[in-house]
Amino acid sequence: EQDPRIEGIASTIRVVPDFPKPGIMFQDITTLLLDPKAFKNTVDLFVERYTGKDITVVAGIEARGFIFGPPIALAIGAKFVPLRKPRKLPGEVISEEYVLEYGTDCLQMHIGAVQPGDRALVVDDLIATGGTLCAAIKLLERAGAEVVECACVIELPELKGRERLNGKPLYILVESG
Ligand code: AMP
Repeated sequence: EQDPRIEGIASTIRVVPDFPKPGIMFQDITTLLLDPKAFKNTVDLFVERYTGKDITVVAGIEARGFIFGPPIALAIGAKFVPLRKPRKLPGEVISEEYVLEYGTDCLQMHIGAVQPGDRALVVDDLIATGGTLCAAIKLLERAGAEVVECACVIELPELKGRERLNGKPLYILVESG
């Protein structure tokens, strides 16, 4: 039995065909954010799951992990750490490159933001191929953290991104595609 709040959340996500390029079904969460009840229910479902799990750091992936991560971090009493695209963070960083359909991309994290013994939750809006979450997990583990779980609002299960997470659990609210 699925939580009754999930159907309401799913109904607010706008699917935009062929954005940003032909063949992509873009899952637009800005329409979820326009519905205060759906936005609150989204955050609440994550907070209910992670309260009392001794999570010390919520790592949010640029950019839409910066929308859902901070309210979860505040509610569970964890620090928030942004994982950013290259050349955005001013301090010393560690980097993880990952492969895209065309070329590569990279995530960076400030050295010292995460320490050995930290227990991490990784947050993003969506998992597609899993490459982004995989890079995030590597950054956190290189800093000595234990990645407890990854959490996304949406999964595109056909792309099997879950299989790229090296056995780390993934929690999602909505499946699409
Ligand atoms: P991936 O690394 O392939 O799992 O891609 C996940 C990242 O790309 C997330 O940060 C998503 O926000 C973004 N993304 C990939 N595919 C989509 C899609 N169909 N709709 C919206 N965002 C997407």
